[in-house]
Amino acid sequence: MIKSNSKIGLEIEYNHNLLNELYKIALIHYPNEIGGYLLGKYSEDKKTAIIVKHISALEYSNSPVSFKHVVNEETKSLFFKIFEEEGIHYIGEWHTHPNSNSSYSQTDFNALKKIAQGDIETPVLLIIGFDKKGIIDYSFNVFFNKKIYKYE
Ligand SMILES: [Zn+2]
Repeated sequence: MIKSNSKIGLEIEYNHNLLNELYKIALIHYPNEIGGYLLGKYSEDKKTAIIVKHISALEYSNSPVSFKHVVNEETKSLFFKIFEEEGIHYIGEWHTHPNSNSSYSQTDFNALKKIAQGDIETPVLLIIGFDKKGIIDYSFNVFFNKKIYKYE
């Protein structure tokens, strides 16, 4: 599947399976939030971010309304290993909003802004709003030019 946003021009390509897998992880941690990283690559023309896989955060603290992860040494070496073996790298993050929708919070905004100041210029944040019955909605959010653009 491909989502696009005319203001940014960047397309996001992903497999719907990604959402099924993340929903399963979401349920395991219910009613707390949970999250991790999105790994993949950019197309040669840089117009598409292709999400290839996800990993769950190795070190984090969470609650029903918060999720905070730490990129520790173990995480860094995992990223390095995956890059060596599969040629894919960090593209962004994902986390869940239990019993809620996929709108980003002020905390989410600040976190994404901080990431954008690093090596990744247009980090992607996938938020999944869900409850025990299923995914309520999900959105890809991209930080670009001091703003967050939502892909729905
Ligand atoms: Zn959030």
